[in-house]
Amino acid sequence: MEKNTNQSELEQQARKWLADRGVGLDDIAELVFYLQSKYHDELKMEDCRYNVERVLTKREVQNAILTGIQLDVLAEQQKLDQPLQKTIDTDESLYGIDEVIALSIVNVYGSIGMTNYGYIDKQKPGILKRLNDKSSGEVHTFLDDIVGAIAAAASSRLAHATADDALLDD
Ligand code: MG
Repeated sequence: MEKNTNQSELEQQARKWLADRGVGLDDIAELVFYLQSKYHDELKMEDCRYNVERVLTKREVQNAILTGIQLDVLAEQQKLDQPLQKTIDTDESLYGIDEVIALSIVNVYGSIGMTNYGYIDKQKPGILKRLNDKSSGEVHTFLDDIVGAIAAAASSRLAHATADDALLDD
């Protein structure tokens, strides 16, 4: 039973850190709606929100959230050693590890998440635009990719659920 307790602590902390960094679950649900409304005639925000909630129950997603946000926060506080401090603080375009961490989320519901992630990362709708605003003084080098990845994974889950797919075991 101890294992379950730990898991739920991990989930609570991941949810809290998202909220602390200004990301609401409805912000992510809006990204899912943005990605999926053209494929589902009567898609509701509550369906999008539900699938975001399900993605957040996954341990690898929780760990990606905590790892990414921790690095963002330390960079914001100028607490990392060089050259990593500058790389993350300035969101250097060739760094790429933020995307690698995001991929651990994208892949949770199969490879169609990849297409969704690539698309939303280019378009940057809704909250992704705000997270990419470098003038804020905040560092969201990891968080923008993580949020896009959660939306992409939730979109994949929604697509599998609609297709009644056996891949969906949770
Ligand atoms: Mg990034």
